[in-house]
Amino acid sequence: MTIALADELRAVVAPGYVHTAPSEIISYSYDGTFQQRRPDLAVSPASTDEVAQIVKLAKERKTPIIARGASSGLAGGTIPESGGIILNLARMNQIVEIDTDNVCVTAQAGVVTLQLQQAVEKAGLFYPPDPASSRQSTIGGNVATNAGGPRCLKYGVTRDYVIGLTVVLASGDILKLGGKVTKNATGYQLMQLFVGSEGTLGIVTEVTLKLAPLPRARVTAVATFEKLAQASQAVSRIMASGILPATLELMDGTTINVVEDFLQMGLPRHAEAMLLLEQDGTDAGVARADVDRMAEVCRALGAAEVTVATTNAERDQLWRARRSVSAALGRLRPNKLGEDIVVPKSAIPEMIASVRQIASRYELPIPVFGHAGDGNLHPNILFDLRDPDEVRRVECAARDIFRAAIRLGGTLSGEHGIGTLKREFLAEAQGALAVDLSRAIKRVFDPDGLLNPGKVFPTGRGTEGFLADLPTLAGTTPG
Ligand SMILES: Cc1cc2nc3c(=O)[nH]c(=O)nc-3n(C[C@H](O)[C@H](O)[C@H](O)COP(=O)(O)OP(=O)(O)OC[C@H]3O[C@@H](n4cnc5c(N)ncnc54)[C@H](O)[C@@H]3O)c2cc1C
Repeated sequence: MTIALADELRAVVAPGYVHTAPSEIISYSYDGTFQQRRPDLAVSPASTDEVAQIVKLAKERKTPIIARGASSGLAGGTIPESGGIILNLARMNQIVEIDTDNVCVTAQAGVVTLQLQQAVEKAGLFYPPDPASSRQSTIGGNVATNAGGPRCLKYGVTRDYVIGLTVVLASGDILKLGGKVTKNATGYQLMQLFVGSEGTLGIVTEVTLKLAPLPRARVTAVATFEKLAQASQAVSRIMASGILPATLELMDGTTINVVEDFLQMGLPRHAEAMLLLEQDGTDAGVARADVDRMAEVCRALGAAEVTVATTNAERDQLWRARRSVSAALGRLRPNKLGEDIVVPKSAIPEMIASVRQIASRYELPIPVFGHAGDGNLHPNILFDLRDPDEVRRVECAARDIFRAAIRLGGTLSGEHGIGTLKREFLAEAQGALAVDLSRAIKRVFDPDGLLNPGKVFPTGRGTEGFLADLPTLAGTTPG
């Protein structure tokens, strides 16, 4: 069947863009988590029409089809759990138009986020959503996960910028939604359904994004605190003070120490928290005044040290610690489970205290960092996948973290999505009725269940063993 399907796909795309050899498809078997499973084949189309033809072939042969941008996802979204076709959108990497009159950009789904940002900046415009993976991630992947990042506190997430979409439906039909208009109250906003749908409702092939004016000035500061509670209070006070910072990032004491082990840059090991504060705008004086006021709030709450950057080099130095978190964590243990919970800002201290208890209960290192201004925290559980006992403890820790976030009025994911990692907890977070309605929407768009099957929705197997059941190289389900 795979051979026949591969031959049909070869008739659709240019020579060399259908991959079936084990040595080729292994590259399409993983994402940014520890999961891994090989697809049956991978295909790289160059246009929306080619995507439509491929989806029609998949439908005829009842074969699952999994859209893939850069596979930097942190939820297992591109893992082909039940085999099928990986639809690699990386060749669709053209910026179609930068429209300065209408302050928007149209790009194919496979354009890398940073390349789009740099291209619009050359035209004096600004695309704010900035996942830390922007050098790898694609715009299509960002739309499909509703990606965020440090700047989203002030500017909003990917959803807030999508004004037009071209989507290939499960039938192979091409649906065009929205356009270049920035207001639209015409009927149901179907376009928004696709944002954050993780490849389960349709394949995004082209996106129109509204843009913002490029800020001319940016001022950054770092504040360190002996006590985490002081930093949390600072977050609440800053947000209540009438300032909307461009960025308000938190690193807890464990993260500070892990990064210091890595960089040896003199971070205060005894500090329980560090806040990275930034303001941007058209006027350097105004941005500086906002940062000075934020610094004042931090000092008033007992910050041990507040450093304001006055040059670009100093600014880069202040960002260095935060930017190095992922790399630093990777050195500590072979694997990490990066969570993405969101809680009301006032609940941050309680949430972090819960994570600490969970870390000690299960004897696991769990550094916490994230977008404190949004209440979006990334507890990262560090472990070794080859150790079944540790995997069992990680599973318990992840479950307890989800439940603590929900108990505090929060939710499972702020920006990474659900994928396979959090699917068993969806009903606990949303309620059974919301999950039933979502399933009904899924059936309308994908009646045969071929678009990224197994993602987002609970499997029915329950939460026990939810991690050990996932396909991994070291685990139970070889690809
Ligand atoms: C080091 C690191 C840092 C990160 N930092 C952040 C961060 O700060 N903020 C943040 O939000 N995320 C972050 N991420 C997560 C990840 O980069 C984002 O989720 C990103 O949006 C994924 O883009 P991608 O192109 O790699 O998508 P992929 O991983 O390829 O796909 C992600 C999901 O979207 C679906 N999909 C992809 N393309 C399409 C398409 N064209 N049409 C339909 N469905 C599609 C896939 O099927 C999958 O379900 C980080 C990841 C890493 C590894």
